[in-house]
Amino acid sequence: MGPIGFIAARERLEIQWEGDQAEPALPHDLRVLYVKSTEDIAPRFRRVTFRGQNLDYDRDDQLHCRLIFQPRGIAEPLWPMLDHRGHVVWPDNVAVPTRVYTIRHIDAAKQEIAIDFSLHANPGPATRWAMDARPDDIVGILGPAANGPKQAEFYVLLGDETALPGMARILESLPATATGHAFIEVDSKVDELPPSCPTGGSIRWLHRNGAGAGTTTLLEGALRCVQWPKNPDKTFLWGGCEHKAFSAIYRHLKKDIGLSRDRFVLYSHWHRSLSEEEIIASGAEAYLPQ
Ligand SMILES: Cc1cc2nc3c(=O)[nH]c(=O)nc-3n(C[C@H](O)[C@H](O)[C@H](O)COP(=O)(O)OP(=O)(O)OC[C@H]3O[C@@H](n4cnc5c(N)ncnc54)[C@H](O)[C@@H]3O)c2cc1C
Repeated sequence: MGPIGFIAARERLEIQWEGDQAEPALPHDLRVLYVKSTEDIAPRFRRVTFRGQNLDYDRDDQLHCRLIFQPRGIAEPLWPMLDHRGHVVWPDNVAVPTRVYTIRHIDAAKQEIAIDFSLHANPGPATRWAMDARPDDIVGILGPAANGPKQAEFYVLLGDETALPGMARILESLPATATGHAFIEVDSKVDELPPSCPTGGSIRWLHRNGAGAGTTTLLEGALRCVQWPKNPDKTFLWGGCEHKAFSAIYRHLKKDIGLSRDRFVLYSHWHRSLSEEEIIASGAEAYLPQ
């Protein structure tokens, strides 16, 4: 599937491509990264700093990337290609795991980026890779892409551990005059990684206290208590979390608050019972709002 089919899955598009049918080629935005260092920034959070080349990612509104995890010591890394329809094809049908992450820091001068991996309780290939990462391990990076914050006077940011890197990056970029709230769901106090925050903003930590990630309604509950300003054009919400919470929040924003679609960016970051491959195989109902 290509990006158009993924985003517009409910439309069940049948796209007929015309023109030159080029051979599969490497994505133009593919870069190769090497692990420079790792740091456990909290008991269940590991920061991996990568070095690379041509990492001129200067757009604050493009937070996300896709990482392509190579086995350690591989002589010839395996990279996905795009065919003439924009569909991903792997040479000889041999694929390595890929996952979406948020770029937490970019240091263009040093050509380094940092990614914060939540070391969650049911680790798949990405989390296992991060737990074992060592200097000089190789990953590919595609992107950056997707949507970041838009200009507003009142912001609401919300999400679980997987959205904490995005929220922290957005909070750092907001003007000092910004107001609003950030609601961050983690298991307990030891998982708190306080981001910087404009003086007119508040950060509220929501603790699961041992309940499984993706099983609570903490984020939706906190959001329902927000006093929204009268002028919705000057508000903006950004968030990411497990699919069920994502769907509940999406419904609340659309039906109860009536926030227009250009005033919020909300992602389903993961699914409580599905790996990323299973989400893609399940289709739209596993990642679009229900
Ligand atoms: C736009 C976007 C940005 C993201 N940014 C970040 C980021 O900066 N940092 C980060 O840590 N994650 C981030 N994520 C989430 C991350 O991509 C997923 O958590 C991913 O599934 C992890 O891959 P995995 O190989 O460990 O698990 P998978 O193989 O995908 O899944 C294995 C099992 O783990 C469970 N699982 C997956 N994720 C979690 C979780 N977070 N908590 C508990 N159980 C889980 C699944 O239900 C499944 O049963 C982001 C996701 C998106 C879409």
